[in-house]
Order: sequence, then structure tokens, then C-alpha cells
Amino acid sequence: MSLAPLRTTLWKIQNGRCHYCGRYVPEHEATLDHCVPRSLGGPDKAENAVMACLPCNRDKADMLEEEFRVKIATGSKRRRRVNPSDEAIRAAMLDRKMKGRRTLGKKMR
Ligand SMILES: [Zn+2]
Repeated sequence: MSLAPLRTTLWKIQNGRCHYCGRYVPEHEATLDHCVPRSLGGPDKAENAVMACLPCNRDKADMLEEEFRVKIATGSKRRRRVNPSDEAIRAAMLDRKMKGRRTLGKKMR
């Protein structure tokens, strides 16, 4: 299955804005990012995907969303590995699910 339709859907849901930095991303530059990286067991599913700009996607690499946000907030170049536990990954997934619901709910009203 191609992920291109999902990327377009997410791009529309997020009003063309990067999930991480909020910058507007032209549709042809939009990338699909895994909230919980696949290397950490994140599923290859829509609930684990967000649309992000290429710099964010590249920068985030295999960090958890939370780790990456700390990196953006502190402007730190060095990555702080927090050694995510199963619990942290579950929490990230749950958070993501709730956020997704909110976004979708807003769209439907
Ligand atoms: Zn971005």
C-alpha cells in the first residue's frame, strides 16, 4: 500500500502545517513521520503518523515526539537519549490518539 494518500490526508487535516514546528509545508514537500519510530516498535499505521516538514523529519530521526520537542525547545544540538520504556511509548501513542481525535473532531463540526 502506498503511503501517498495518507500523507495527503494528513496534510489536509493539519492545514498544511508541520506537526512539529508548525511551519507551512507545500504539499509536494510534505513528509510522513512516525510519531513512535518504527525502530522503537511504532506501528506503520495512520494513528502513528503525522505530516512533517522535511527538516523536522530528518532531525527527529528515531526520537520519540517528546524527545524531539525537548530538542526543539532547548535548541540543543546534542541528543539526550532518555531510553524510552514501554510505558513512555504507550503514553506517546495514547497522547497521539487523543490528539488525532481532537483534530478530526474539529474538522467534522
Ligand atoms: Zn517542521
